[in-house]
This record gives sequence, C-alpha cells and structure tokens, in this order.
Amino acid sequence: MNFLFKYLKDKSIVEKLIIIYAISIVFIGIVGYSYYIYGSIKTLKEDVSIYKNKLIESKKQLVKNMVNVAINGIDNFYKEARDGDISEGDAKIKSIKLIYSMRYDVEKGQANYLWANTVDGIMITDPAKPSLNGKSVWDFKDKNGVYLFQRMATVVKSQGSGFVHYCWNKLGAPRNECISKISYVRLFYPWKWIIGSGFYLDSINKDVQNYVSRRKRDILKTVVLSFILGGAASLIAGVVFVVVISKMVSYLKQVGKLSEKLVGENIDEEIMLPYHLNDELGYLISNFNKFIDENYKLSQFKRTIEDDVNIEAVYKRIEMLMHDEFGFEEFSIYEVNNSKNALKQVVSYSDKMFCKQEILVDSSLCRAARTAKEINSFEDEDLCLSFAYKTEKKHVCIPLMIGGSVGSVVQIIFDKNTDYAGIRGKIKEAKRFLTEASPVIEAKRLLDQLKESTLKDPLTGLYNRRFLDEFAPTFSASVKRRNSKAGILMCDIDFFKQVNDVYGHNIGDKVLKMVVGAIVKTIREADIAVRFGGEEFLIMLQDTDEQLTQEIAERIRKNVEASEIFTSGNSIKKTISIGYAIFPADSENLWQCIKYSDVAMYKAKTAGRNRVIRFEKSMWESDEY
Ligand code: GH3
Ligand code: MG
Ligand code: MG
Repeated sequence: MNFLFKYLKDKSIVEKLIIIYAISIVFIGIVGYSYYIYGSIKTLKEDVSIYKNKLIESKKQLVKNMVNVAINGIDNFYKEARDGDISEGDAKIKSIKLIYSMRYDVEKGQANYLWANTVDGIMITDPAKPSLNGKSVWDFKDKNGVYLFQRMATVVKSQGSGFVHYCWNKLGAPRNECISKISYVRLFYPWKWIIGSGFYLDSINKDVQNYVSRRKRDILKTVVLSFILGGAASLIAGVVFVVVISKMVSYLKQVGKLSEKLVGENIDEEIMLPYHLNDELGYLISNFNKFIDENYKLSQFKRTIEDDVNIEAVYKRIEMLMHDEFGFEEFSIYEVNNSKNALKQVVSYSDKMFCKQEILVDSSLCRAARTAKEINSFEDEDLCLSFAYKTEKKHVCIPLMIGGSVGSVVQIIFDKNTDYAGIRGKIKEAKRFLTEASPVIEAKRLLDQLKESTLKDPLTGLYNRRFLDEFAPTFSASVKRRNSKAGILMCDIDFFKQVNDVYGHNIGDKVLKMVVGAIVKTIREADIAVRFGGEEFLIMLQDTDEQLTQEIAERIRKNVEASEIFTSGNSIKKTISIGYAIFPADSENLWQCIKYSDVAMYKAKTAGRNRVIRFEKSMWESDEY
C-alpha cells in the first residue's frame, strides 16, 4: 500500500484515477471470477453425484425392464406349452433363443445382453461366454471373493427379484480385469430359471466424465465470454470516466494556473471560471470565483485609494464603500492621535457620535483604540463603557493597525435587534477591505503631515512663503470665481530689533509667538496667515469688503497692542504696523495686491507706526517700487 502511495504521489489526478480504476477492475475481476469458479465447481460436484445416481437409476430401470420383457416372453412360451400348443422342450428352446437374441444399449459400441441360469447354478445361456453353457457356475467367485451366482440365488429366493453388485471380466477386456457391475436378476418360477442382465459401472463413469468436461467447457465459455464483455464494458466505462474526469481536472488546472497569478501579485483582471455544476468541484470553483472577485475588488479599491489626492478623499471613498457596497447605514471613523492621546472623528456617516465625548480627549477610553482588539457588542455586550447608545444600538469597532499601534478605529452601528448571523460575513469582508486600506490611510496621513510641515513655519505654526507660492493661484482663482473680495494685510512688528538687542533672540522668539497668537485669535478659521518675512506677516481675509477689512486690521492692531509677556520681571508689549489692499479691487493680480499692502505698511511705519493704513493708488505712483 505504501509503495502504491509513493508511486502515485507525483502522478497527475487523471493518471492516479486511471491506475486506481485499473487496479479496482482487476481486483473486482479476481474476486468475482474466484467466487464464480469456486461456486461453479461446488455445484458441479453436487450435480455430478446427482447425475451419476440418476444415470445408475436409469440403467437399473433399463436392465430391469429388459429382464421383465424377457420374463414376459418366456412366460408366453411356457403358457403355450401348458396349453399343449407346443412341447415344454420347444418352449425352453424358444426361451433360450429369445434370451440369446435380446441386445440393448447398442449404440455405445458395447451391447448389453441377458443370460439365464438355473437356481442351483447351471448356466443355461450366456451370450458373452457360450463356453459356460450347461456348466455349473455355482462356485464362481469374482476378484473380491463374491460368489455371485450363489448371491443371485439367495436374492431371488427371498424377494423373487433384485439387484446384485459384483465385478466381472468384461467382454473383450483383458482376462483378469474385473469391472464393477450391477445386475438385475429375476426368478422365472415355473422352470426355476434366473434371468439376469447387468451394466458395467465404467461406462457410467465415462458418461460422468463426459458430463463433467461438458460442464467445465460451459464454465470456461462463461468465463471467457464474460471476460471479453466485462473487459469491453470496463474499457468503455473507463474511457467515459477518463473523459469526464479530464474535463473536471481541466477546471482544476485552470484554478491552479490562476492561483499562480495570486502568488505575490495583485489580481488585475476579473476572472470567472465557467463551471456551474452543484458538485464539490462546483463548490470549490464558485468559492474560487468569489475569492477572485473579492480580491479583484480589494486590489481595485486599494489602487483607487492609493491614487486619491489626500486623506479626506480616502475617507470619502471608505464612506462610499461602507454604505454602497456593504449597506451600512451608520458608521464612523476615528483617527487616533498618539502624541496627543486623543481621538478625532473624521467620518460620521449619520452625522452622529455614538460614543461619549470624553473619548475625543482621552483615546484610552475607547476600548478598541486602547486594546487594539475588535470590540463587538453582538458577541460581548457592555464591553466598551464609552458606547453611549447601549439601549438602542449594537456596535462593532474595528481597530486599524498601523506600524504596531492603532491608527484609527472604524465603528459600525446596527439596530439592537439586527440578526448578527446575517451581517457577520459582511463585517468580516468589510474588515478585509479596511485592513487592506489601513497602510494607505497611514501613508496618506503621513504625507498630509509632511506637507503640513514643509508648508508651515515651525516657530509660529503659520504657513510659510512656500505655501503662499503654491496656494496663491488657487486662492486667487477661488476669490474671483466666487465674485468675492479678499483683504490682503501686511503686518510688521514695530521696533522688533530692539527686543532682540535688549533681551536676546530667545525672548525675541517668544514675543514673535505672542504677536502671532494675537493675530490668529483675531482672524477666522477660513482666513490665511503667512509668515512672510522674519517678523512680517501676510494675512488674507476671505469673503470680506473694505469696511470689514479695516475693522479686522484695526482689531488685530489693538489685540497685539494689548498683549504682553513677562520676562525676568519685565513686561514686554509690542505694536504692529499694518498696510492693506483689497483683492481683486486694487489689482487683478494677487501678487500686485501683496506689494500694494507692503507699500501701505511702509506708509504706516513712516506715519508713526502702530497704525493701519489702506493702500491708495497715489502711494504706488509716488514711491518707486
Ligand atoms: P521697524 O519698526 O522699522 O520694523 O523696526 P524693526 O526693528 O522691526 O526693523 P526690521 O523690521 O528691519 O527688523 C527686523 C528684525 O527682526 C531683524 C531680525 O533680527 C529680527 N528677526 C527676524 N526674524 C526673527 C526671528 O525669527 N526671531 C527673532 N528673535 N528675531 C527675528
Ligand atoms: Mg519690524
Ligand atoms: Mg521687518
């Protein structure tokens, strides 16, 4: 068996099945034929003994009939003599002639005959051995010492007729050969004659042998015929079997070939195997198709989000996936800020927050974020204490791992009586997509952070000149498209050099931050503040007008004036000078407007500082910029 397994190991499935099929057929053949031959021989043996007995019976019947026929004849002659038609001597002669002439069973080359002798053992007529006629055979005994004529006399005396077994030298046989013989003897009472006739058992045996060889030939014929027919049928069945199996295996081969593509590669085409039978292979192939389909979608999804411009676009894409593909109606994504130990809700499909607000300032209150394990209230209720909708909803919170820690948590909300079995598969699949997305999310987040850092000034946190260069065209186009106005403010700290000179650069930096703080506090979220130079700031106020710009500029000036910091017992206060222009009212060119605001700012300096001055055309014409 081991040898067989080893032999089959490297063979193809079709080869394996052919070999197993062939072995099975041979095995079935051997068992079937052995059983058939064993059974045939057994019944043959029984049949032979029945056949032999029947043959002996029929022979016995035959010799008995012949002897009876002879006795009838003799009886007729005897009656003729008794009636005086013929003499008794003639009747006896006629009887002897009759006995002598009777032959039967002639066709087998040996004729059976009848004989007659007296009860006391004088041979009357023996056609086989005429030399015995008239002589006493009373003391005749066969090879086995049987006094056969005495025995015959005993049988007929007691029963009138009967069968006697003995052995006898057959006519034409070698002299001392003694062959088993059964004879029927009957007494013809009036003359005390015994009439007998017998048959040799060797002829019976010959018949039996013929019968056996005929039966054996029949068995052999059956074996050969069934072998040919069975072989042909097995061959046809084998061919059909191989064709069907080859067809099925060809699907397996395709699965194998396709699976090669899956190794280390993304699936870049939607592949479906056309096999629709409901068998095990169909099951495998339909699952394979599902797998391919899912992986195709997965890799498509990954590629799409990789190409998305920023993290917001990725979140938007995830939102679409969760809603359109998986049918989730309520879900959120929380970003984990590890350095601040805080959470930020970056996606909220139903515009709701299902967790207690505290998690936003303490991420450790979010169990999924803290333990990096999926929290599923279907499986374990009340596990997360920060879930605020326990009585109405169920939640599944999936942490997305990034570089060994939780980067974000996706929370899916279900109604309390949702059938979990019906959505478990969906959640699992969504998880695959999210897991796939998590490195992309992280990369995008990092990229956004990096962009932020290259575009922002590290000291003040304001945008830098680079940002302005990149952002100016967008800003300019956006203001014009909306038919809006933007206030362009140039601010410069008054006598800032003094601070450095008196207190040193460190304090200078602090004062710088203080001024920036006052500025940022005054402007709106949508306004843009840029560190334009060392202690010069450009502020672009969105959606404003002349008056509002003037007001905000004035407010900035005042707020800066009001701010102070303390250092080694001294209070430091600073003022700023602000010049402004209105874009695109003063110039269609944003950069020109910036220049104008700078011009106005210098005007403010020369006019005595700590003031706001609006740009006027005359300033440009009179000065040489
Ligand atoms: P004015 O009122 O005419 O503007 O006088 P001012 O002293 O402010 O003159 P100016 O604007 O020419 O001087 C700017 C000074 O700001 C020069 C520089 O040493 C200082 N400065 C620029 N950037 C930084 C900075 O990042 N930190 C510190 N501490 N000082 C800076
Ligand atoms: Mg200055
Ligand atoms: Mg300056």
